[in-house]
Amino acid sequence: MKINEDNMFFMMSKHQIKTVQSLGQNFLRDKNTALKIIEAANLTKDDLVIEVGMGAGSLSKLIAPQCKQLVGIEIDKRLLPLLNETLSDFTNVDIIHDDVLKLDIINDILAKYPEFSSYKVIANLPYYITTAVIMKFIQCDKPPDISVLMMQKEVADRIVAGPGSKTYGGLSVIVNYYCNTKRVMNVSPNCFVPKPAVNSTVLQFTKHENHIVTIADRQLFFKVIKSAFAQRRKKLSNSVANTLDVGILKSEIESILMEMGLDIAIRGEKLSIEQFATLSDAIYEKSINKEI
Ligand code: SAM
Repeated sequence: MKINEDNMFFMMSKHQIKTVQSLGQNFLRDKNTALKIIEAANLTKDDLVIEVGMGAGSLSKLIAPQCKQLVGIEIDKRLLPLLNETLSDFTNVDIIHDDVLKLDIINDILAKYPEFSSYKVIANLPYYITTAVIMKFIQCDKPPDISVLMMQKEVADRIVAGPGSKTYGGLSVIVNYYCNTKRVMNVSPNCFVPKPAVNSTVLQFTKHENHIVTIADRQLFFKVIKSAFAQRRKKLSNSVANTLDVGILKSEIESILMEMGLDIAIRGEKLSIEQFATLSDAIYEKSINKEI
């Protein structure tokens, strides 16, 4: 089934819109996919929804009737007249013409809608800023309850990967520290216009009510994860000793691993989030004791 495709093409030609590849403009043309994305957000008529990258409004016009307020962000000024016309039937849609990465989510968006205590994010993301957008929302002081995001399949595979898998890495650990992630579906290039060169995947992100692990020093935790995967082919003890800048020795990391009941030759890709938390806290303890 197509999204009023004739209408989308008609509107694009009426407004003389040619898609721009550098802005990740692959517009969704398949209505079934759009409806499944929206379904995964479990929308209610009370919801505030932020849509990143409205394009020609294919998702926006299906989201608007299902929520209380839609706030769309679109960087491309040329699309604004088309969006205003396409969405003219809706009184609950606000459009912010800006770069999502430059916006302050709380002050520039949420502060304007004080009646809402929570919000959701839906997006067919511009792929060139996928991880930056995800990190921006999940790490902000008021993260969304649920996000449903379409992205390049390779990035989605890395996010949902578990310990031991080839695609498991820093991104998997950090994102899953903040939220539960679930694959909603894979999407073929045929569902877009123009067709992207890559396959796509829709993921659902659900905020953890409480962090799944408690950590003494969150910045150190992220640094440990980054350094554990910095030299992927090396043992974790080498990779962390070589790249973590807190003066920890390889022998000290090995003794922590032994205390954790792990093989001292283990690689970072085998550790769970909980084990990274234990490792990071033990490194924290050792570095504090050294300072004293
Ligand atoms: N939501 C529409 C759809 O599903 O058909 C369009 C999706 S298209 C993959 C991504 C959209 O994000 C484009 O309209 C593009 O102009 C917009 N975009 C790209 N970079 C952006 C940025 N930094 N901030 C806000 N929007 C951006």
